[in-house]
Amino acid sequence: MTRIAFLGLGHMGLPMAVNLVEAGHEVHGFDLVPAAVDAARTAGIPVAASGADAVADADVVITMFPAGKHVIAAYQDELLAAARPGTLFIESSTIAVDEARSAHQLAVDAGHRNIDAPVSGGVVGAEAGTLAFMVGGAEDDFAAALPLLEVMGKRIVHCGGPGLGQAAKVCNNMILGISQIAVAEAFVLAERLGLEHQAMYDVVSQASGQCWALTTNCPVPGPVPASPANRDYQPGFAGALMAKDLGLALQAIEQTSTDARMGRLAQELYAAFADGEERGATSPASSPTSAPAPSD
Ligand code: NAD
Repeated sequence: MTRIAFLGLGHMGLPMAVNLVEAGHEVHGFDLVPAAVDAARTAGIPVAASGADAVADADVVITMFPAGKHVIAAYQDELLAAARPGTLFIESSTIAVDEARSAHQLAVDAGHRNIDAPVSGGVVGAEAGTLAFMVGGAEDDFAAALPLLEVMGKRIVHCGGPGLGQAAKVCNNMILGISQIAVAEAFVLAERLGLEHQAMYDVVSQASGQCWALTTNCPVPGPVPASPANRDYQPGFAGALMAKDLGLALQAIEQTSTDARMGRLAQELYAAFADGEERGATSPASSPTSAPAPSD
């Protein structure tokens, strides 16, 4: 039994925390938003009065926040000072590689241990305990975290030193963003050439154009019953989150002076799409920029 502080009880954090409780761990949660606190209590998670209170007696602190600025601020403002020396911080939010490295350094400078452990698999994977974890950090910290990651996930890869879990996440999601746009554009072209969706799917899903964006997240209704296209494009993973992840990819592209024109373009298209979403646009599959939201 490990004493865990779980901070950030949103769409992903709450089901992950529930799985840890069900596996017999002592979990104290915290979230800034009252609705998230209420939902956590309803789900059986004891909630502390503050982040500092939650981490005070913890062996392990897991954070699942929206973005890097929230992680750095929470580490600096209260968590690192309130935790006991040697606490293992597992940072699971999707944040920039350099932010993950800064968070790691802050934790180590404060006398703690830290790994970055972003996830893929979406809310469904968080609920089912089948997330994929990509981990960056020291071998012994990875080994210490592994039994907990195995409660929340099924595929856990140690990618290397600090920040390299986030590097794997950013690169994977850049492939996803580019391939999702490519598949949407190809379906539009196929339509205009008079090719039926099903015929196009039957060929490409068995040919060299086969990819997850086609066979799991097919952008047109019909061929893949579980894809968002058959649920009126209700997102499992909002376009805004894809735009965020591609923004992190763009940041990494610029920092490393990488010639990645497709990654840049994908970021531009998803950012424009997410902006449209915010203004209430729907997502028909009839525009090249309307790749439906992948369920990451
Ligand atoms: P969310 O917005 O639903 O939850 C984040 C929670 O963190 C919020 O409830 C917020 O109030 C809380 N929070 C922020 N600062 C806090 C602080 N200092 N102390 C306590 N709580 C704080 O987001 P989510 O969908 O759960 O995603 C979390 C992270 O996981 C993001 O980085 C996201 O990119 C990544 N991710 C999400 C998905 C997905 O499908 N939703 C999939 C993979 C990865």
